[in-house]
Amino acid sequence: MSLLGATEIRELAAKLELNPSKGLGQNFVIDGNVCQRIVRQVQITSEDVALEIGPGLGSLTLAILETGTPLIAIEIDDRLAKQLPITVEAHNPGADLIVINKDALVISELPRNPTVLVANLPYNVSVPVLLNLLERFPSLREGVVMVQAEVADRLAAKPGNKDYGVPSLKSAWWADLELAGNIARSIFWPVPNVDSKLVYFKRHSPLGDEDFRHKVFALIDAAFSQRRKMIRSAMSSVLGENSESIIKNAGIDPTLRGEALDISAYIAIAKQI
Ligand code: SAM
Repeated sequence: MSLLGATEIRELAAKLELNPSKGLGQNFVIDGNVCQRIVRQVQITSEDVALEIGPGLGSLTLAILETGTPLIAIEIDDRLAKQLPITVEAHNPGADLIVINKDALVISELPRNPTVLVANLPYNVSVPVLLNLLERFPSLREGVVMVQAEVADRLAAKPGNKDYGVPSLKSAWWADLELAGNIARSIFWPVPNVDSKLVYFKRHSPLGDEDFRHKVFALIDAAFSQRRKMIRSAMSSVLGENSESIIKNAGIDPTLRGEALDISAYIAIAKQI
């Protein structure tokens, strides 16, 4: 059992005549130690089923499979999806891997219920992919994702922070998130022109049903579509002309801005609808 290094990544890319696509965020990790460090962020047990989005040439895939867990990997690029089982068989014969050649943005069902997410997410769709997975797969208990540094800061931001916004709040509906380390640009091929960070998440108990979530998310979208306005005005598109009194009834100051409220404040307001 061995992990992928820089030489093998380049050989695989040459074999596939792969010219890494910027649009698909194809920057491949060439350092197996970093992949093992990422996997160590989550507690994988013998009961788990891991999920990886965008396995690419398989660097992180091999580090996940090294733990002995079954893995479902979703890859949009058919050349990479076809090659992955061949690479895995060469490094870890008999590993329990299912590769699905699909867009992770639209995935709504899987052959097994995933419990742990480990992924170096495609950067241009990382937030919608993460939110889609948290929504569609309640079995996902925890995970670690590598994303662009600015996106990581937004996901993990708390109220009042300059990075706090829609991604922080919508992900907080599902889970508790925290920053889990920086990743050097030099461990990728090709080297990206952005920095990367890890975000760890753990799902918390549900805060409401789907109807109620839609109300909360509508309030979040309204508050941040007019970020500089007080919530009594910004939320009037959802709450109507009685916006101010509805917010007051929830025990929230209607002159605050959306960035001052945590998820429980949005929930309190939504309960008044
Ligand atoms: N996990 C690999 C690694 O760490 O070396 C590759 C990560 S690379 C940043 C992102 C991968 O996601 C690429 O393999 C790309 O083809 C794939 N990808 C891009 N958009 C996707 C989507 N919407 N659904 C599934 N995979 C996608």
